[in-house]
Amino acid sequence: MRKDIFICHACEDKSSIIRPLVHSLSERGISCWVDEAEIFAGESISEKINEGLRESDFVVVIISRSFMAKNWPRKELSAVLNLEAKSGRAIIIPILVGTQNEIDSVVEEFPLLNDKLFLLWNGDANRVANTVQMTVLKSKGQLIEPQIKMHTCGHCSTPFQHGVHVCLGCHGTVIYGLSNQERFNIRRNAIFLVGFISLLTMTFFPFFSSEWIGQKIPMFWGLGLWSVPSALITMVIGGYFFEARSVNRNSHLIRVFR
Ligand SMILES: [Zn+2]
Repeated sequence: MRKDIFICHACEDKSSIIRPLVHSLSERGISCWVDEAEIFAGESISEKINEGLRESDFVVVIISRSFMAKNWPRKELSAVLNLEAKSGRAIIIPILVGTQNEIDSVVEEFPLLNDKLFLLWNGDANRVANTVQMTVLKSKGQLIEPQIKMHTCGHCSTPFQHGVHVCLGCHGTVIYGLSNQERFNIRRNAIFLVGFISLLTMTFFPFFSSEWIGQKIPMFWGLGLWSVPSALITMVIGGYFFEARSVNRNSHLIRVFR
């Protein structure tokens, strides 16, 4: 079966980079081809990449110290970068791992990297997975950039797309607008408030009305027993009215709860 991504890497990077990256990518629905792609000493990276190209749409190459320590990768990476440049289709996504000096020397050695989208690995698989996901979606025509609204988690600064319900960085719950609990609280408070005002205007206020405004307001608004259902209906309408108003006013809120 065809995959979105073929990951080309040195076996030393398996646990520190490949596993978290594949996990992050698969959470985003990006399929990866990885196990057969390990580069052992003396193996040909161009062969691996050719295999990857047959099986997948993109090849992610993890260029790390271990990767560069092998003799073959240097030459072959520049060979495949050349090949790719000639073919005119961007298929290799290099991910550079290491200190700034190491990265600088890699970029110097592979001038073609300069024209390419290459990603820096800073230990955050989610950040890299986001960019890889965008590249894959764009190639499938599923991403028209301005339409994808991105937000940033307030807890862990992980970017996430609008509509996502769990932050992939801190596993917090993303709430758009007010949470159900907040809506419930607003409704409940409004019902109590309207109830309290109804009670005041039905009993307390009529008691003093002639003294205060020179007019007698009848007890229970003159409704007798009907005052109870009327008050209840007013309370419920008030509750939903204030809830709807707050929902409207807070619809722009995007918060992450953990
Ligand atoms: Zn987060």
